[in-house]
Amino acid sequence: MNRADAYRLGEELEKRGYAPTNQPEAADLVVLNTCVVRQSAEDKVLGRLSSLSSLKRRAQRSALLQTSFDSPYSYRESKLVCVMGCFVDDIQALETRYPYVDAFFKPSDIAGLMHFVEGWEAEQGECPSQRQPLTAPQVSDLVPISYGCNHRCTYCIVTLRRGKQRSRPIAEIVAEARRLVGRGAREITLLGQNVDAYGSDLPDHPTLADILRAIHDIEDLWRIRFLTSHPKDMTQEIIEAAAALPKVCECWELPVQSGDDAILRRMARGYTVEHFRDLVHRIRERIPRSALNTDIIVGFPGETKEQFESTLRLVQETRFDTVHVAAYSVRPGTAASGWEDDVPPEEKERRRALIEDAQTQIAGELNAALLGQEVELLVDGKQRGRWRGRTRTNKLVFFESSDNWLGRLVRVRVTWTGPWSMRGAVLTPTGCQA
Ligand code: SAH
Repeated sequence: MNRADAYRLGEELEKRGYAPTNQPEAADLVVLNTCVVRQSAEDKVLGRLSSLSSLKRRAQRSALLQTSFDSPYSYRESKLVCVMGCFVDDIQALETRYPYVDAFFKPSDIAGLMHFVEGWEAEQGECPSQRQPLTAPQVSDLVPISYGCNHRCTYCIVTLRRGKQRSRPIAEIVAEARRLVGRGAREITLLGQNVDAYGSDLPDHPTLADILRAIHDIEDLWRIRFLTSHPKDMTQEIIEAAAALPKVCECWELPVQSGDDAILRRMARGYTVEHFRDLVHRIRERIPRSALNTDIIVGFPGETKEQFESTLRLVQETRFDTVHVAAYSVRPGTAASGWEDDVPPEEKERRRALIEDAQTQIAGELNAALLGQEVELLVDGKQRGRWRGRTRTNKLVFFESSDNWLGRLVRVRVTWTGPWSMRGAVLTPTGCQA
């Protein structure tokens, strides 16, 4: 979701004549887009903030040196530093704490940020030239379908910072998807904290399946994905729509979080392990080649060794394609933050590593089964001299070719596999002798 916000913000800024730079020192405007889902993410934000503070101080100093008495510029205008995203909670408190930040914006408040930038330009009496070349469009682009979430998972700060679910009307989503495809996107990922609950806050209760059907007609759109699903809210209607619509990729983001019913109850997830197993069974039965990705938290307050082992067993038995495993991290304001964080850090790490090891083995085996097979990739870029593409199941495959494959579909034969990526060789089109 942050990446989607960053793309959209970049696009708005480029429309006003701004161009991207990799060097914060060279930028007129720095926007720090933040995530605080775990303490480690928040620590990164704090680190960045302190480096931005020295950056701002240096910019102020050199602006002061350059400013003559009759100059209309004040030191504050030397460089604009803005912070947006889930770090932004109590704006007043943040303003006091970080005086060198020019403005704070709530998650996804791109309109607010652009309004602020326009005001800044007006004050300065200048704006950047309007003829910068635009950044190349994304082959795989992101369209938020809803913001916020109505669940109150007891560990989750995102729902507190992003607020209640606000679904965007289908017409708006379709228009945005059309626009992105018009500028070169071939794959669209529909985004929400809980895409399965899409529309429950809108008058006619449209569903994710309705969006899938509506954007399926867009010409030159080849692949559709959506994330994240919630095991409690995933409906048979969504599964049927995914099965019926060829552009919808057979790839599911279904965070289970724990393999133990008591823990799931205390997480307030609203389903049992049995429900999750049944859901996986229904998806795999209906769409056999489905890839299944999940998130797991280990070391939740009160998690016993036995409860953890149930999670490990679930991982081994389900054979997910990817597992994102995180050690539980206390987040301020959440219900779980009131409970004792009683699993010691070393034990959390041990549990995390056990899941990670089991999954590395499984992912390696699943990929190895593709060795020698033909797969179709959508090529989204180059990395270290090799083209990079993804299968419909979102597996990463690299291949070498002197042709330009960017934004194209290519069939390759898998020649090497590892747990995290594969390599392939471009297949000579049939009927064509090399
Ligand atoms: N709304 C999505 C994603 C939320 S954040 C969902 O419900 O799945 C992404 C992942 O971060 C979560 O799935 C969870 O596994 C992890 N996470 C969230 N809060 C956490 C916390 N306090 N400690 C550790 N991991 C956490």
